[in-house]
Order: sequence, then C-alpha cells, then structure tokens
Amino acid sequence: MRGTLRIGATAWSAVREHLFGSRDERMAYLLARASVWTDPWGSEVVDLLVTRAMPVPDAALRLQSGVRVEVEAAFTREILVACYETGLSLVDVHTHPFAVGAVSFSGHDVANMPVTHAEFLAAVPPDPPRTAASLVLGQRAAAGVFTDPGGGGLHRLDRFEVLGDHVEKVAL
Ligand SMILES: [Zn+2]
Repeated sequence: MRGTLRIGATAWSAVREHLFGSRDERMAYLLARASVWTDPWGSEVVDLLVTRAMPVPDAALRLQSGVRVEVEAAFTREILVACYETGLSLVDVHTHPFAVGAVSFSGHDVANMPVTHAEFLAAVPPDPPRTAASLVLGQRAAAGVFTDPGGGGLHRLDRFEVLGDHVEKVAL
C-alpha cells in the first residue's frame, strides 16, 4: 500500500511558519479528503488532499518542550468531531526543532502513533474512506506514516507534495 499527501502552498507555508516559530516542539492538524484506489500495477494507493490546516495554539498544549508535545484532549476532541461530521481524515504534524539533517519519529512517537491512529479509525466511520497519518518535520526534512484505512497497520508515506504554481516535492 502506498500513500500520498498533498497540500496547497499557502496553507503549508502558514503551517510551517507556526510550527517553526518556537524553539519548543509545536503541532498542527491537517484535515484531508482521502481517496483510495488501485493503480495500474495492482497496488492500493491512499491519496490525502488537505482541505483545512489548523495550527494548534500553544495554549491548547498540555505539555510542550524541546523534545515533547501533547495536545489538550478537549482540542483534539473538537478536531475529531469535525472529521466525523465531514468524513475527513486527520494528519497530525509536529516538529523536532533540533533536527537539522534527516528527521525520524522518536521512540515515544512510534509507540503513540498506532494508538492515536486506531482511536481515530474507531471514531470516524469508514465511508467515505478515511485514515490517520502523522508527519514529523525537522528544519530541512520530513518523515511521514499513515494507517491502512482498513486498520492494517502503519505504512510510510511515499510522496508529499506542496501545490503552488509548481508542484514541490518534500523529501521524505
Ligand atoms: Zn516527535
């Protein structure tokens, strides 16, 4: 299974500006329309097109440091309700502000993502197709994963594209 994430350039630059406006980790939620299709070679592809980007204000964080960030449950619940009501998928994005080169999810992230993704899939009905994804951003790099909409575990995101006058590929 492959996965692609696409976001408009204006929304992405606003999200990045928020995320890197602090020396501590920050978060944003991206709400995305998911489509699931089978490519000509027979493999299943999940396409996520972001329709709404929501930087999480620091006031809505219950824990924030240079190495950890956690969002207040009430804020996340509102986002879940929005996804439920609109059939949208959820992409959580956070920074590792001290990662200057390659970036990867921390052990805490790796332990946490299957739990939050499973909670999302249990909360939002599967029609239209929906999934949960996570992105971590370093200063110059990104890494991303998504969960099989059928609940079959985590997969790496294959492509991340920023749509402006040109399509800019973000290296994963
Ligand atoms: Zn992290």
